[in-house]
This record gives sequence, C-alpha cells and structure tokens, in this order.
Amino acid sequence: MAVRSARCPLCERTAQVPDWSPGEDWKTIEGCACRPNGFLVEAGVWSTLPGRTPLVRQRLSDRLRAYPAEALVRLRSDPTQREGLVLEALPL
Ligand SMILES: [Zn+2]
Repeated sequence: MAVRSARCPLCERTAQVPDWSPGEDWKTIEGCACRPNGFLVEAGVWSTLPGRTPLVRQRLSDRLRAYPAEALVRLRSDPTQREGLVLEALPL
C-alpha cells in the first residue's frame, strides 16, 4: 500500500497516511504529535475534521495522547456524543 505525507487534521503536523481506496471505512494516520504509533479515523469523519474549531481539534489531539502507547485508538462518528464524535480504544 502506498503511503503519502499529509497533515494530521488534528495537530496539523506532518503525518504518514497510507493511500486508501474509496471503499475503505477507516483511514490510518501515523507519525504525528497525537500518536506517533498511529490511530484510525472513520472515513466519513476525516473530511469533517478541517472544518472543526481549533479548540475541538486540540482537545481530540490531547485525548489521543492520553491513551497508553500500545492502545489502538480510533475516532468515529457518534451522534449521541458532543461534537458527534467519540474516541475509543479497541481491544487488542
Ligand atoms: Zn495529529
């Protein structure tokens, strides 16, 4: 899978984002300040992140950093949550 450099939509640092085909549900972001080991973003959420306020993006980045390094964390939509987003750690 090809990997390209992109800006993390949360911390705005350069990150590695594997090229991902339109049918895939999750996008991986690696190497940015949020989580050097990477995290997952639901495809439908990714495109909405640049439109969020800096405060919301900063808060998500801070919360990503707070998870243990080995955790696999993903950001997905959840209409019941504030901002319509939820972060969750997947069982390993
Ligand atoms: Zn980031």
